[in-house]
Amino acid sequence: ANTPSAPEPSALPVPRDGIVGEAPYGAPQLEVAHALNVNENPFGPSPELAAAIGSAASEAATGLHRYPDREALDLRRELGQFLAEESSVPAPAAEAVWAANGSNEIMHQLLLAYGGPGRTALGFTPHYSMYPEYARDTYTAWVTAERGPGPDFALTAEMVTAAIAEHTPAIVVLTSPNNPTGTALGLDVVEAAARALAPTRGMLVVDEAYGEFRRDGVPSALSLLDVHPNLVVTRTMSKAFALAGARLGYLVADPAIVDAVRVVRLPYHLSAVTQAVARTALAHREELLGRVALLRSERDALAAHLAGRGHEVAPSDANFVLFRAFADRDDVFQALLERGVLIRAVGPAGWLRVSVGTPEDNAAFRTALEEADPR
Ligand code: PMP
Repeated sequence: ANTPSAPEPSALPVPRDGIVGEAPYGAPQLEVAHALNVNENPFGPSPELAAAIGSAASEAATGLHRYPDREALDLRRELGQFLAEESSVPAPAAEAVWAANGSNEIMHQLLLAYGGPGRTALGFTPHYSMYPEYARDTYTAWVTAERGPGPDFALTAEMVTAAIAEHTPAIVVLTSPNNPTGTALGLDVVEAAARALAPTRGMLVVDEAYGEFRRDGVPSALSLLDVHPNLVVTRTMSKAFALAGARLGYLVADPAIVDAVRVVRLPYHLSAVTQAVARTALAHREELLGRVALLRSERDALAAHLAGRGHEVAPSDANFVLFRAFADRDDVFQALLERGVLIRAVGPAGWLRVSVGTPEDNAAFRTALEEADPR
């Protein structure tokens, strides 16, 4: 018979520069008793809410022979209404909100539209590991400046304006609360960045993926949108909303910025099922966000516990805590894993990040740490 022969390995196409030899980003997905490694919300939906989400998905399924609503204006309006409630700002119009498959896709789209060859994006280390990857994918140069030393990892208005003056970036990414440090930024820092970027028409993106976990009195950059047309605030339903599996992130900005993003988005990027699920989740936000207060107090207790053991601990406004291990961090990570607790070896050398779980998860972490990293 005329069977095709195996392809010559040498005939395999070679990925472009920047892609060849690279590994896909992602933390290990392991079956463990206590998964505290990717800053998820540990609380799943109630059976009633799971059923409501299921029937919304069923309803959407009856129309799956058609493409989804490309503009998703209902969802975008409802996201705006949620933000008005959450941050006490006037509700942004649907045209000022844009939604995509996670804030990862939102950032990717922003860099596609506003980055590119000859343009630079600036971030501050330690930062979320995906930022350089969005830049790589979009042929944007990625440059960084350092935050101050731990445990505060401070970022001041002066540091931000100096870095902007040095690099003249098209895009600056500020993360508040920051991953992996957990630290939130004062609005003076955000304002200084927006002002410093205005003369060169640069864009400031404030990534508020963990915004809903911020402590009382810590403001959101949403309150500055009216004054700074070059400001974009990104949010996600993955964290506080306990909806990481549904993939829904969004941004708020001047509608002209949303229009530029609409040019680069793939047609029908947000499936009908995703839109239906996200809208149902928004309608049930009281339940989904109901655990945020508990997670905040668990976070504060965890940070206090770690400080009490003598660790250096970064002040956290997020749903995770970054602390400095006594022993080698990789050994501590491994010893915790052997005890069923999966955390993350991320951030500056010697530091570890633990997500805030259920009270049971957090207790298991504290117990395991006694053996994994004795003081
Ligand atoms: N920004 C930050 C700072 C994050 O930590 C994460 C997730 N770890 C994201 C964005 C992306 O989250 P998602 O795509 O699930 O919205």
